[in-house]
Amino acid sequence: MTPNTFEALPLAAPIQRALTERKYITPSPIQAQAIPHLLEGRDLLGCAQTGTGKTAAFSLPILNALYNDEQPLRPKQARVLVLTPTRELATQVGRSLETYGKYLNIKHALVFGGVGQRPQVNSMRQGVDVLVACPGRLLDLIEQGHINLSGVDFFVLDEVDRMLDMGFLRDVKRIVALLPKKRQSLFFSATLAGNIVELSHNILRDPITVTIAPETTTAEKVVQTVCFVDREDKRDLLLELLEQQQPGELALVFSRTKHGSDKLSRLINKEGIKSEAIHGNRSQPQRDKTLDRFRKGAFPVLVATDVAARGVDVKAITLVINFDLPNEREAYVHRIGRTGRAGATGKAVSFCCEDEREFLRDIEKLIQTTIQVDDSHDWHNAKLADEHARGERPRSTKKKSGGGGYRGGGGGNRGGGGGGNRGGNGGGNRSGGRVTGASSGRRRSGGGRSRRSAA
Ligand code: AMP
Repeated sequence: MTPNTFEALPLAAPIQRALTERKYITPSPIQAQAIPHLLEGRDLLGCAQTGTGKTAAFSLPILNALYNDEQPLRPKQARVLVLTPTRELATQVGRSLETYGKYLNIKHALVFGGVGQRPQVNSMRQGVDVLVACPGRLLDLIEQGHINLSGVDFFVLDEVDRMLDMGFLRDVKRIVALLPKKRQSLFFSATLAGNIVELSHNILRDPITVTIAPETTTAEKVVQTVCFVDREDKRDLLLELLEQQQPGELALVFSRTKHGSDKLSRLINKEGIKSEAIHGNRSQPQRDKTLDRFRKGAFPVLVATDVAARGVDVKAITLVINFDLPNEREAYVHRIGRTGRAGATGKAVSFCCEDEREFLRDIEKLIQTTIQVDDSHDWHNAKLADEHARGERPRSTKKKSGGGGYRGGGGGNRGGGGGGNRGGNGGGNRSGGRVTGASSGRRRSGGGRSRRSAA
C-alpha cells in the first residue's frame, strides 16, 4: 500500500501546496516507502541511491510533525537536528527545507566550519525549529555554550557512510550522547557497509529498514564508460569531450587534488570554454558563489575535488568526468550521482591510466558491473584495456610478485618524447583509429603534446 501520489499521503495542506508548486506529483520509491512509516513516528534506516529524493523523504514527515505540534522556540535549542558530512550537503538540505516548508512558519539554521561562527551563534540565539549541521563545528558551538541539544525530538543522520569515511565517528557518537533518549531517529546512506548498520543499531530504536536499490549500485539513469588512456593524454581527451557538449549542458570534472583542479580549470578556460574550480582551499562563501553561478548556467564546466562529490544537486549536469579516478571507491558512486538527477539521464566518463587500474578494479567490484570501455577516441590505450579485461594486475603490483614480462615491448618508450606512437605492439592501433575533424589540433601527433604537465 505505498502511495502513488503525494495527495494520497496525510501531509498538511501547506506542505501539499509547496509540493504542487514544485510539480512533485509522484513520490520517489524512497519517499513512498519511508514517509508513511515516518509519519507514524518510526525510526528508519534508509538506503537509496544518490539523487533519488532522500531529502524530501525525511524533510516532509518532519515538517509535518512540526506543523501539527507547533511549539515556541527555545533559546539555543532546535527540535530537529540534521547532521551532514559536508557544508555543501548542509546547504542543500537547508534549501530543500525552504522549498518544502515555504508555507510553514519554520525557522532553520546552518552550522558548519570554514566560515565565521558569529552569524551561526546569532542564528541560534533565539532557537530554531531545524538545525542542519556538520559535526565538528556543531561540537565547537556546543562546547562554547551556544547550542544545546536537549530539546531535539527528531534526529537525522544523512550520508552516514561518508561521515564515517571522513573520520566523524567519534564526533557522531559524542553528539548522539547529548540527545534526549526519547526522539525519532532517521539514518540515510547511499551505501550500507557493515559498520554503518552496526552503528545504526546503536542509535535507532526498532527501525524499519528501507532499501531502494542494492546497497552499492550506481544511479540507474547514468550511462557509465571508461576511457583507457595514458596520463599525459588525459587533458586532450578531456577537452575533446567538453567540446562535444551542447549549449545549456553542464559538465562536472573531478580531479584528485586541489592544485590539479585549479590547473585543469585554467586549461579549459584557455581553450575558450568557461570553467571555475571548487575545492577545500577555497573559502565557503567562494564555493557557494561558484556553485550558485554554475547552477544558474553562468559557466558550463565546474572542476572539483571530492568536496563536490555529494550534495551538489544541479539538474542540468549531463556529464561527469572522472579526470582522476577516486582512490576511495564509494566516492565513485557519489560522484557519478551528480548527473542523472531527478529522472534525467546523464553520462559519466572515467579516465583510467596505468596506475589507476587498481582503483577501477575496486570500483567495478563495488558496483558489481564491468564499466563499458569507450575506445572511440584517439587516445585509447588498447594495451591497458586488454590487460584490464584479462584481469591482469597493474604493473606495480605485478612487478613486486616477480611476474615481470610486459615491461618490455613497446610500452617503455613512452617517456622518450618521440611524440606519440608509443604502442609499437598490438596496443598501438590508435593512430589508425577514427579520423576526427582536424579542428582541435590536439591529435596525438604534434602539437597536442604541449599540454603535458600532470594534474
Ligand atoms: P535528493 O536525492 O533529495 O537530493 O533529490 C534529488 C532531486 O530530486 C532534487 O532536485 C529534488 O528536488 C528532486 N525530487 C525529489 N523528490 C522528487 C519528486 N517526488 N518528484 C520530483 N522531483 C523530486
